Amino acid sequence: MSSHSYDSVCPKCNESMDSFSENRPYDMVDHECLNCGFYTENSEHMRSLEDLNDLRLDYYERFPCEKHEDDYGNPTCEDCRDKSQLKELPTINEEK
Ligand SMILES: [Zn+2]
Ligand SMILES: [Zn+2]
Repeated sequence: MSSHSYDSVCPKCNESMDSFSENRPYDMVDHECLNCGFYTENSEHMRSLEDLNDLRLDYYERFPCEKHEDDYGNPTCEDCRDKSQLKELPTINEEK
């Protein structure tokens, strides 16, 4: 299995706490302190289309148009801006 637990130091009380690491379906580590009650919880979120497009505008260099493919996109280029914007969110396969 890919899950693994180990001791680490609690950032709140400096006592030893339990940490659990997992690398499926992606790397994550959660912590639980039995001394002071500190714990962390991994949480997952999906951005709305609007939020995602806002974010993608900040990363325009990842979505260059054909003209600007070699220089990482150009923030003043309409085509690059267009290319960074999604019309709809991609379909996610919710397979079990
Ligand atoms: Zn603690
Ligand atoms: Zn461009």
